[in-house]
Amino acid sequence: MSARILDGKTLAESVRAEVRAGVEAFRAKHRRVPGLDVVLVGDNPASVIYTRNKEKASNQVGMRGKLHALSPSTGEEELTALVDRLNADEAIDGILVQLPLPKSVNAERVLDRIHPRKDVDGFHPVNAGLLALGRSGALVACTPTGCMRLIELADVTLTGANAVVVGRSNIVGKPMAQLLLGANATVTVAHSRTRDLAGTCRRADVLVAAVGKAEMIRGDWIKPGAVVIDVGQNSVPLADGKTKLVGDVAFDEAKEVAGAITPVPGGVGPMTIAMLLANTLEAARRREEAR
Ligand code: NDP
Repeated sequence: MSARILDGKTLAESVRAEVRAGVEAFRAKHRRVPGLDVVLVGDNPASVIYTRNKEKASNQVGMRGKLHALSPSTGEEELTALVDRLNADEAIDGILVQLPLPKSVNAERVLDRIHPRKDVDGFHPVNAGLLALGRSGALVACTPTGCMRLIELADVTLTGANAVVVGRSNIVGKPMAQLLLGANATVTVAHSRTRDLAGTCRRADVLVAAVGKAEMIRGDWIKPGAVVIDVGQNSVPLADGKTKLVGDVAFDEAKEVAGAITPVPGGVGPMTIAMLLANTLEAARRREEAR
């Protein structure tokens, strides 16, 4: 039997509509619109597209989105000075510095400079720490929160379920595991040193793949009926010289075994930007409440 497809595009549209309504109510109450400033250093083609999309998406929901496109030679001092200015600007609620940064810049130092209340990517140690402690008030990384919304769509009971997250990065794997733990799942985090990865995946009622290896997770690694969330975005070359975007899961095989599965593209990807908008609105609300 073929799995139910968890349509991230449609879900993201409904999240954007919720945010649009929230922005309208925020504007009526506080006489200003939430502001998101996106910082891009250099001309990495994927980053250029991502940052333009983020600026456009924020303007589409009625926020004030602004892209700061800086030259590839921008130094750490100049970049942190910009972050300081954005931190101090009352009209700005969210600051996002697009990764990767040039090698000459210490990305950790730059990201740590963003005020935690404006850290809409949820990467700051304060936000990661609040999430890890299960405390309220964190701005949580957008991709994992998007994955949680997709899991909700699958209508699975997370309490007591076996959840396996493949990947332990700070931006996807770790916060994903924390969110699943917070939802009372029994969580296993697998990584490149995990023994018997296939067997580990086979025990998962909910499997989240965030590896960055094209179609590594095969159909026979999946427990029948499992919910499969594929975070991977891998560009693979085709015979005609073009490229194709595929996930970390071999979709055609997996959809025959899983109960529900996200496609790539059209699954987790659209949810990431939608949750960034939701985080920016939330950051704006909290800043107003704290005044
Ligand atoms: P990272 O490269 O930071 O982390 C990859 C993780 O996968 C690491 O923990 C690594 O283990 C693990 N890993 C690598 N190889 C294997 C293996 N053979 N077996 C088991 N585990 C392995 O990647 P990210 O977390 O940043 O991203 C993961 C994927 O998600 C990428 O394809 C990326 O493009 C995509 N992505 C998609 C987003 C979206 O919006 N859809 C947003 C962010 C990312 P170890 O720690 O041991 O090295």
